[in-house]
Amino acid sequence: MTVTPEAGALDALETICRRRGGRMTRQRRAVLGKLVEGKRPLSAYELRDLLRPEDPSVTPASVYRCLDFLVDHGLVHRLETTRSFIACDHPEHPHAVQFLICRQCGSVVEAEDKRTEAATERLGHRLGFALDQRTVELTGICGTCKTDPGKAGDGRAVPCA
Ligand SMILES: [Zn+2]
Ligand SMILES: [Zn+2]
Repeated sequence: MTVTPEAGALDALETICRRRGGRMTRQRRAVLGKLVEGKRPLSAYELRDLLRPEDPSVTPASVYRCLDFLVDHGLVHRLETTRSFIACDHPEHPHAVQFLICRQCGSVVEAEDKRTEAATERLGHRLGFALDQRTVELTGICGTCKTDPGKAGDGRAVPCA
């Protein structure tokens, strides 16, 4: 069996997970694998459809349980705007994250901007909020779609509120 880049990436993620006290089951690894391969956000139902051919026992509920675990262990982020999930770009350390989501092609950029993080923290403090979730989701049109609207992404429209 050849080792694909995805398998190497998954092994690294499994090590991070173990260090955080989590046990990577076969199904958790399969879900994470689809997100790493996909390189784009996927909904629980899309994940179920991708996993079904390999494992007929997969249900939306079992996918959600895997996703909860992967989010809790900092390997996957949840995107509220598009109700989907994406593999973390820098899972080695816990971080507050900002997402820039393209409304046209569905591509997502994960940023880790310290100034934005500090600003949200200050905002919470000023308004008397103890923040437990610091993710910022911004929507718009990405650079590729802006310069070349005909050729952008995979053409998936993102239903943005
Ligand atoms: Zn991340
Ligand atoms: Zn785009």
